[in-house]
Amino acid sequence: MTAVQLDGRQVAASIFDEIGRRIHARLEGGGSRPHLAVVLVGDDPASETYVRMKRKNSEDAGIESPDYHLPSTAATDEVLGLVERLNDDPAVSGILVQAPLPAQIDSAAVMERIDPARDVDGLTPYNAGRLAIGSPNLVPCTPAGIIELLDRYGIELAGRHAVVIGRSNLVGKPVSLLLLYRHATVTICHSRTPDLAAESRRADVLVAAAGQPHLVQRDWVKPGAAVIDVGVSRVDGKLVGDVEPEVAEVAGWLTPNPGGVGPMTRAMLLLNTLRAEELRRPLPS
Ligand code: NAD
Repeated sequence: MTAVQLDGRQVAASIFDEIGRRIHARLEGGGSRPHLAVVLVGDDPASETYVRMKRKNSEDAGIESPDYHLPSTAATDEVLGLVERLNDDPAVSGILVQAPLPAQIDSAAVMERIDPARDVDGLTPYNAGRLAIGSPNLVPCTPAGIIELLDRYGIELAGRHAVVIGRSNLVGKPVSLLLLYRHATVTICHSRTPDLAAESRRADVLVAAAGQPHLVQRDWVKPGAAVIDVGVSRVDGKLVGDVEPEVAEVAGWLTPNPGGVGPMTRAMLLLNTLRAEELRRPLPS
């Protein structure tokens, strides 16, 4: 068997088009243009690349997307001050603070300062709490993108066994909750899980979000399972996922990496930005 590719690039392209059409209709109806403020601190090349891709997708869809670039020596107070200015700016629909922040910055304090109504990453305590109680508002983009991708390929989740490798606030925990709300039986694995291979083999849907190159091997995968490769690591200058390529010989579905989860994450960021604007400034009646 060769796995069907879960083509995030193609699905994201159609979502970008849908967003573009919705924004066009919103402007025609007298509504405001969504505005995504992206905060980048320092000169991490990977972060700069991500920010560039997000800006291009935003602009193509009709979202205004200015960057706010602070030097790598910036102090926590400077970042907090910028976040506050953006919180107070009526034009700003969404605020994204690109992770990772330099070590001297208190990342949790920065996250907590973002206005939850503009938290398009869905990572503030308010939005994380809303998700935890099953009443989501703005949902983290990578987990939302994974569910959207599974949905667009018609992969059943209710009653299936989902195994998530990773328990971070960014990916592992929120995707586990989203799978649970879709009535999957969810196992969350992490660095202290004793027999990761055995847990993985039980998965109908396997989400690998550990950031460990080629952690998931061919014989860890149940034949026919849907495998989502979230991890991105740099090995000898090349980007490598958490899933070894031979998994494609047994899985039913597999995300390419790159070209799977990454574009879906950016598509959900734009959707969250549009949603935040729609909620904050509904169309005039
Ligand atoms: P993280 O480092 O915060 O969390 C990693 C999790 O994996 C932890 O919970 C840890 O317990 C678990 N883990 C680590 N090593 C393990 C092992 N050997 N066995 C089992 N569990 C293990 O990372 P994160 O922010 O959750 O991101 C995970 C990966 O996904 C990273 O490679 C990141 O770059 C990537 N990522 C990709 C996208 C995208 O859009 N493509 C978005 C977010 C994150």
